[in-house]
Amino acid sequence: MKKHIAILGSTGSIGTQALEVIRSNPEHFAVEVISAQNNYVQLVRQALEFKPNAVVIGNKEHYQLVKNDLSTTSIKVFAGEEALSQIVEFDNIDLVLTAMVGFSGLKPTLNAIRYKKQIALANKETLVVAGDLITKLARENGVNIYPVDSEHSAIFQCIAGEYNNPIECIYLTASGGPFRGKNKKFLENATKEAALQHPNWDMGNKITVDSASLMNKGLEVIEAKWLFALKPSQIKVIVHPQSIIHSIVQFEDGSMKAQMGLPDMKLPLQYALTYPERLKSAFPRFNFADYPALTFEQPDTKTFRNLKLAYKALEKEGNMPCVLNAANEIAVYAFLNDKINFLQISDVIEYCMETTNFILKPALDDYFETDREVRHKANELVNKMGSD
Ligand code: MN
Repeated sequence: MKKHIAILGSTGSIGTQALEVIRSNPEHFAVEVISAQNNYVQLVRQALEFKPNAVVIGNKEHYQLVKNDLSTTSIKVFAGEEALSQIVEFDNIDLVLTAMVGFSGLKPTLNAIRYKKQIALANKETLVVAGDLITKLARENGVNIYPVDSEHSAIFQCIAGEYNNPIECIYLTASGGPFRGKNKKFLENATKEAALQHPNWDMGNKITVDSASLMNKGLEVIEAKWLFALKPSQIKVIVHPQSIIHSIVQFEDGSMKAQMGLPDMKLPLQYALTYPERLKSAFPRFNFADYPALTFEQPDTKTFRNLKLAYKALEKEGNMPCVLNAANEIAVYAFLNDKINFLQISDVIEYCMETTNFILKPALDDYFETDREVRHKANELVNKMGSD
């Protein structure tokens, strides 16, 4: 029995790696839907290879081009945000891989859960922003959310078979990114080219900058709270520069389970697509001779303030993680567009957290309103910083 998969965000780093996994296992998977925001050239190429039932191009300007390129096939072509949300309703989709970037993934993810599709979640921002709504809706609809994020996949693998054994705490490992050990003076002048050089992982631009600023780990702390129903005090972060141990669970008897492997996103991706089975793979294997030492250190949250800000948002709850996420998205793109320096990313986030209306029990509309308000405010601040 093939699993029928929809990949939202098929041309990004996660999307293309998911298609590699599917290409290697054609007897296990069928691609039902793929989508991209702007990259219509690659979307068409993928469609011609994987022959999905339908494709969605987010940016409507490219609709006609995609339509023309696929006119000799029976592949349906849709465009726009609404279409992306609705496409997950297709009867023959078993699992939706959410691999788009940022807040834009929220609506399609919620709709997929409403239509009882299993979720392989790579779009961590959706859980950060609205983890309460998503997990509640998933429970009501009997939907499982399989983590794709390597740390959360590690935790998920460690707790398999431990259903009745409560978690005492978890350790999310962090590589520390390209700026590990650097001081504020260095970071003030850090270039985007340097920020985009991740030592271990090959990922998209947004997450790579998040990784350099430790915001990625901050978002993952919040993601972990929702995936595993943990309190903030149970979620710890430890820097592990080799990225071999992907995360650790400590149980109530003090025993710790860690999940290890080479840093390759295809591994957690494949597990999310095949759980509870493990498929034989040809991924490179770990070699002890290459890693004579695995080391650990505490994160430097004085220099990298984003991690502290994320814990603060997590403890405040309500719409505060949504504020954190929206401000961060604007700040990261401002940094990538040379409008602000690396350290100012934290300044933008902190300012937004201090000045945005706090809502303890937000409804879905409140999240959209908060997101809109914070983006507007963050953009104003970024433009002001850029002109100073
Ligand atoms: Mn991760």
